[in-house]
Amino acid sequence: MSYNLVTDDVLQQLQAIVGTDGVSTAVSELNLHAADMSSHPPHLGEVVVWPTTAAQVAGVLRLANEQRIPVTPWGVGSSLEGNPIPLYGGIVLSTGRMQAIVAVHVDDFQVTVQPGIGYKDLNKKLAVYGLFFPPDPGANATIGGMLANNAAGIRTVKYGASKDNVLRMEVALADGRLIHVGSRSIKQSSGYDLLHLFVGSEGTLGVITQATLKLTPIPALMSAVAASFADVETAVAAVVAIKGTGLDLAALDFIDASTAAMLAQENGVDLPAQPTLLMEFHATHAETIQLGLDMVREICDEMGATRVYATADPTERQRIWHARHQTYETKLRLNPGISWMPMDVAVPISAYPALVAYAEQEMQAQDVSGFLIGHAGDGNMHFTLAYQDEDAHRRVKAVNAAVICKAVDLGGTATGEHGVGIGKAPLMPYEHGAALDVMRQIKQTLDPNGILNPGKIFA
Ligand SMILES: Cc1cc2nc3c(=O)[nH]c(=O)nc-3n(C[C@H](O)[C@H](O)[C@H](O)COP(=O)(O)OP(=O)(O)OC[C@H]3O[C@@H](n4cnc5c(N)ncnc54)[C@H](O)[C@@H]3O)c2cc1C
Repeated sequence: MSYNLVTDDVLQQLQAIVGTDGVSTAVSELNLHAADMSSHPPHLGEVVVWPTTAAQVAGVLRLANEQRIPVTPWGVGSSLEGNPIPLYGGIVLSTGRMQAIVAVHVDDFQVTVQPGIGYKDLNKKLAVYGLFFPPDPGANATIGGMLANNAAGIRTVKYGASKDNVLRMEVALADGRLIHVGSRSIKQSSGYDLLHLFVGSEGTLGVITQATLKLTPIPALMSAVAASFADVETAVAAVVAIKGTGLDLAALDFIDASTAAMLAQENGVDLPAQPTLLMEFHATHAETIQLGLDMVREICDEMGATRVYATADPTERQRIWHARHQTYETKLRLNPGISWMPMDVAVPISAYPALVAYAEQEMQAQDVSGFLIGHAGDGNMHFTLAYQDEDAHRRVKAVNAAVICKAVDLGGTATGEHGVGIGKAPLMPYEHGAALDVMRQIKQTLDPNGILNPGKIFA
């Protein structure tokens, strides 16, 4: 694909669509929208636009399509695979001024929002209704960015990923058409499932301009459990055993010994420096919580846990999960000068121990270090690998590629939640084979000029 540059004439037309204060070519703004939270190199767009309505988004796309100018949608840039980096320049379309809650459908447990609202801000506003949107990727990601990446989080094991918590969306297509996909009905069986075609498409097929989300009542009771183990193998084997009981866990995360030590030191969380499983239970009755706790304690003891710590105290529980959510930022802060590559692969739960063992073996072979955290209950593993120079970067990338192929061989996937972006694109043929050609055909149908987030998903 070849693209045209953003000319003065195009800038004027953009201003006519979104208003003069909704367009900027200031270097400071271009820099702020050039990189996400990954280690992929930044790339500058030529202009940033901030539409406020779906009609304005559609107008920007129509113009860009006519002029053959790339458009990269932008939430808050918290991606970890280069997903919102404007690789081919052009227009960065920020949803930062589309943060309205359009309607709260309290009796249906639903909310309709514009795409730029952060999920944490949304949940704060929904608390008065006793409802929340469960997917929780950690950073205050936007709803548009979460749906576009099909983000998940620590509670996906109970409540599902973003794709499981959306019912209907309005999407602006590359040619400027606005369409609605899905419906507000919980059951939907009408035609092709376009809703879930756009979920996870990383802004390459259309721009989400509105979404109706499924909400869940805030649980009356919550408790947290931290089970420590002497080694990684035992802890990971315990994950499979705990899942095997059918216990209704709201979270089942793994952190390695170095991370447990860091959370204890930096956040005052009461954890020994050992591989640890962090769990959470939600219920309406105290007895249900207690039954879950008793059962999990019994299994962890049987599996050789060195310590099982349970708390129903809300402050302590929040401290544990807050610390867990801050792991990546804390590692960055404590290790200046070191770059990190977060891996994100997922496998069927029974293959989790084999995947972790393989990743450790590859790291050893390539002389690479890092830390392991993961949404173990979903079979989702995040080894985060450290590097300081080009040679180490090359070895880290080799480990990442080998582990991705292993995950696929084990019946899993190259990415459980971060999406393909730039980093995973070269491995898509290995995972998808001929199905990747079908994806290309869909892209060609919806975006024949290739203006939407070029350079992502397809290498
Ligand atoms: C410390 C840390 C922890 C994280 N933990 C998790 C985790 O546990 N689980 C997880 O899933 N992710 C995690 N992430 C990754 C990231 O937060 C998620 O991928 C998130 O969904 C990105 O949202 P965003 O608003 O930042 O979107 P951006 O990064 O701005 O964009 C994401 C993608 O969506 C596209 N896009 C944005 N808005 C729209 C729209 N309205 N329509 C169409 N396309 C759009 C962009 O072009 C891009 O391809 C973490 C990130 C950090 C920094």
